[in-house]
Amino acid sequence: MPHIAYVDGAYLPLAQAAVHIEDRGFQFADGVYEVIAVRSGRLIDEAPHLARLARSLGELRIRPPRGEAALKIVLRETTRRNRIERGSVYVQVTRGTAPRDHAFPASPEPTLVVTARRARPPDPRFVEEGVAVVTAADIRWRRCDIKSVSLLPNVLGKQEAREAGAFEAWQVDAAGRVTEGTSSNAWIVAADGAIVTHPANHAILNGVTRLALIDIIRREGCRLDERAFTIAEVKAAREAFLTSTTADVLPVVRIDGVPVANGHPGLLTQKLRAAYLAHVAAGDA
Ligand code: PMP
Repeated sequence: MPHIAYVDGAYLPLAQAAVHIEDRGFQFADGVYEVIAVRSGRLIDEAPHLARLARSLGELRIRPPRGEAALKIVLRETTRRNRIERGSVYVQVTRGTAPRDHAFPASPEPTLVVTARRARPPDPRFVEEGVAVVTAADIRWRRCDIKSVSLLPNVLGKQEAREAGAFEAWQVDAAGRVTEGTSSNAWIVAADGAIVTHPANHAILNGVTRLALIDIIRREGCRLDERAFTIAEVKAAREAFLTSTTADVLPVVRIDGVPVANGHPGLLTQKLRAAYLAHVAAGDA
């Protein structure tokens, strides 16, 4: 069965699905995206993903291509046509197609692309043994809160991680503080027992998984500090972990080759992961 993509009103086999070469997404990375997990054929946390999409579009003054109800139908239909039980749906909106000029075109028609793909659960070893991260300079712009398709620094950071045999790169700002991963949010359980993650400001993407986990942490009555932390704090931490739609909650056990605590997944991380998976299994949308 060929993979089916939705492009501006049509469902097409992937090989025939295309956008114009003067699409501003291609020319300027002038667009935004979302990745929504699919579990048992259902979209997980669809509402906060669509809220973040609307916010990203608003910040860039890109007109929403569809009303929310129509977009939801396209997301479901793309998932159904690709027969995805477990995987993700990808949605990208660009400012549209126009002769190349940096300034906005007069009345652009936004481009909407939706694809869906299957994915297996994370490698059980990542969960049982944890993953390694390396650090990389955060060379991104100052609007990382917008989920823009302009991902070159993230691409370079992830490649650094891959070449170092690590799962992720944790990006570090000029003041030596960890902002976030290249495609995930970064967390530690600090030496004082507080769960620490960077505040949701312009320096990070406010992950939907991050938000779900914050709800869980509050419900469980754990201490949460939304503040930046340093690499030295990671090395002195009791536990570390990362979160994202595709990775769920994964223990981080090494940073730049140095074990975090005893080099094994932490108990609190395992507890939070289980609680997050229960939230996903409940399938609230
Ligand atoms: N930060 C960045 C830079 C990301 O690309 C992602 C993945 N979209 C995240 C954090 C995690 O966000 P979410 O939990 O919504 O997948």
